[in-house]
Amino acid sequence: MAPQGLIAHGRGEAFDYLFGETTPKSSRLATKAAVALLLSARNPVISVNGNTAALVPREIVKLARSVPAQLEINLFHKSAAREQRIASLLKRNGAINVLGASASAKVRIPGVASARRSVDPRGIGGADVVLVPLEDGDRAEALRKTGKMVIAIDLNPMSRTSQTASVTIVDNILRAIPELVSCTLRMKHLSRSRLRAITSSFDNQGNLSRVIGDMVRYMHGWM
Ligand code: ATP
Repeated sequence: MAPQGLIAHGRGEAFDYLFGETTPKSSRLATKAAVALLLSARNPVISVNGNTAALVPREIVKLARSVPAQLEINLFHKSAAREQRIASLLKRNGAINVLGASASAKVRIPGVASARRSVDPRGIGGADVVLVPLEDGDRAEALRKTGKMVIAIDLNPMSRTSQTASVTIVDNILRAIPELVSCTLRMKHLSRSRLRAITSSFDNQGNLSRVIGDMVRYMHGWM
């Protein structure tokens, strides 16, 4: 994990205490909407950064296999050596194909200044739905601008990522990914029209307000 990754992790943990380190009820609704989006996507892709690989390597591979979705490594602190290490960690945990770790053709996401702008055209570049755990706001916003549906996992409901995503799961990634896997297995056999009904009835802004309400109620319990 990069040192900046450790700081981002600490920021996340601070928010986790504000929920009592449990999954808020409102986040379960977002998980259901996220699964409906992933299952109805034409080309769903899971973006993997250093923190995600370090925290949930086995579970993220399980999720990719159960949807199925592609895995693409996308790093802020990019180096070929880090990409290779993360790719082999994912492969040791059962991944068959991992994008983003070779010098294959890359396309740019307009509006992203960091190294994260460079993506694989078969993966994030051509995706209609992208799951972006522990994202930075710039890239989440830029992905939305290219017309992709973005699913974020972020413990801070007020971050730019949370506010710009199409579906935001406010939860610790350690709990959110296993929950996404079991929800995917439960919803896998739903019809397309049922999946569409779930996604179109989901209101991300409204749900984020409910998440903040859950946080405030939990803190009231301490007063
Ligand atoms: P933004 O640009 O979206 O406003 P930021 O500048 O804080 O946010 P990053 O530094 O990339 O963005 O931080 C990543 C986000 O990941 C933070 O909002 C943090 O709350 C969240 N986060 C960190 N660890 C976890 C975790 N284990 N589970 C879920 N979210 C986490």
